[in-house]
Amino acid sequence: MDYPFTPIPFTQVKIDDDFWSKRIRTNHKVTIPISIEKSEETGRIDNFAIAGGNAEGEFCSEYPFDDSDVFKIIEGAAYSLQIFSDTKLENKIDSIINLIGDAQEEDGYLLTNRTITGENSHNWIGKKRWEKVDDLSHELYNLGHFYEAAVAYYQATGKRKILDIAIKSADLVDRDFGYGKIENWPGHQEIEIGLVKLYRITGEKRYLDLAKFFLDIRGKGTGDKKTYNQSHLSVTEQTEAVGHSVRTAYMWTGMADVAALTGDKEYVDAISKIWEDVTFKKLYITGGIGAVGGHEGFGGAYELPNENAYCETCAAIANVFWNYRMFLMTGDAMYIDVLERSLYNNVLSGVSLSGNSFFYANPLESNGQHERSEWFGCACCPSNISRFIPSMPGYIYAQKGKSIYVNLFVPGSAVFELPKGTIKLTQESNMPWNGRIVFTVQTENKTKAALHVRIPGWASENPVPGDLYEFTNKTKSAPVFKINGNEVVPKYENGYAVFERNWHPDDKAEVIFPYEIRKIKAHPNIEDDRGKVALQLGPLVYCAESADYDDPYIFDMFLPESNNLSFGFRPDKLGGLNTIYGEASVRKLGEGPDKGEIFPVKFTAIPYYAWAHRGKGQMMVWIPDSEETVRPAPGLTDLHTMQPCRKNERKTWTISIPPAGAKLKKYGLKEPAAIISAF
Ligand SMILES: [Zn+2]
Repeated sequence: MDYPFTPIPFTQVKIDDDFWSKRIRTNHKVTIPISIEKSEETGRIDNFAIAGGNAEGEFCSEYPFDDSDVFKIIEGAAYSLQIFSDTKLENKIDSIINLIGDAQEEDGYLLTNRTITGENSHNWIGKKRWEKVDDLSHELYNLGHFYEAAVAYYQATGKRKILDIAIKSADLVDRDFGYGKIENWPGHQEIEIGLVKLYRITGEKRYLDLAKFFLDIRGKGTGDKKTYNQSHLSVTEQTEAVGHSVRTAYMWTGMADVAALTGDKEYVDAISKIWEDVTFKKLYITGGIGAVGGHEGFGGAYELPNENAYCETCAAIANVFWNYRMFLMTGDAMYIDVLERSLYNNVLSGVSLSGNSFFYANPLESNGQHERSEWFGCACCPSNISRFIPSMPGYIYAQKGKSIYVNLFVPGSAVFELPKGTIKLTQESNMPWNGRIVFTVQTENKTKAALHVRIPGWASENPVPGDLYEFTNKTKSAPVFKINGNEVVPKYENGYAVFERNWHPDDKAEVIFPYEIRKIKAHPNIEDDRGKVALQLGPLVYCAESADYDDPYIFDMFLPESNNLSFGFRPDKLGGLNTIYGEASVRKLGEGPDKGEIFPVKFTAIPYYAWAHRGKGQMMVWIPDSEETVRPAPGLTDLHTMQPCRKNERKTWTISIPPAGAKLKKYGLKEPAAIISAF
């Protein structure tokens, strides 16, 4: 028993594009090496050396869970080594694994903080093993990441050492925890996912049972942390997303895995209800989850502030994990709509284009206070990025029997073993920069298969399932489908266009999605988005950023619904991307005689993932759509010298503040002629 839909592992998928390939290469060349370097600088690696008796010293780093960052980096390196041959990296990881092996205690216990400090261990982990396991000890969280790393590295290299360390550890956890033993749950979920992976690779059912135990034993929490770590109710009684978002999204991911392997319908019911709560009421347009910084987690329904949005990078990654599993359970494309939104927007925003700086929180609005950091004391996000990016091709395709599922539109190819033959499917496109995709089927003989091509939300009439967001403009055209150049009408099923036929060698299926600028309105209950519009083009959500404007103050800009916008590819900009451009307006809110006057401004928006690469400045995803919702610009008194245009003079108005160039430039208006033509 397992998921009815089978993922095509990234090792069977070859990417041949200019978007993801760059990211994966940068992750290999930059993100993984600097993550190792930072782990060395901060003592994370030394902790293993000291715990294992290979070096002298105190616990070197800040948090008791710092081991987990190293584990995630190993997992990322394992994935990356399946794409790039890199002996130096492999040797480095081998040497770290040796240190981890030495740091493991005789009976399998693995947590450097306790091994090094003994009874003087960090306050969060208590004096004895597992004593604060349901609180902040992170002992089991740490191990979950270790098991994931062990499985990945063993699969990548065939080297058993790390897997054996993991098995020894899991056997100890299995001896200590369970009904009639320690009946307690992890304060930070994650081990459930790790144990399932360990079960899948070893076939040892005790690990699956243990994962289920850690879920089922949850629910008797007390005190103020019970919702923070989702121990307020049993996992099957939980119907709403509460508390720390990474904890809970890992929990839902683990529940999906265990349900797939055990057939537990109650788990499926619970996470389906929670999925609706998240997607219908608590999801950012960027695919981010976890609005509130204080507890790094969910707020109430529709509580989605922009400037203070937390949207942790780890939570967006966890949202991808979870939604992918919801798809694997159901075959429904709506889960991929959420996955794609998180992936192309919140996840990608979490790491710079150069791969060496990171966002922990990913706000949807900035007043110039945000920029990516080289590293964090709590370094969960960079290490999570380093492991996620190389595994990304694994989310593109799936299969069920003779049905091939294309979930994401990324040029490249994949091989499918079908009941009656093998098909290599090649995907060609310029995604995410236009919507035309050509699939070529390579097969030795004619082969019967059903090609399911996802119709993404951005190419139809709903950005995401539910009514949290809606497009205000309909697409000008419907998707067009062709087989070998002839237009066809496919069957539709669960959000996919289905082409079922006997495929001949070199048959082509072509899909042309309407690739248009979509304007999005939020549910009126989202206070911060009222009277504002967001823009999306393909899978990418856009934002306006100061760097594209001569005046860095852009919060007084608004974009009337009726304004026509265009887009175009800019190969020179931020690694190459489509910008959206056109005209917006600025409403002056000073106290001068021209108070309330409205001026045109050249409008530019860039994909959200690309913001914060050009210095600090204002940024907004949700742009006021009328003069009513703009925010006053401080310090604009100098602009009061501008002669306001009179409505009946608009065709001929001029700015009468010579030398006015500097002021005009503040609003992106380089030439008076541009103003005139704008009316
Ligand atoms: Zn994080």
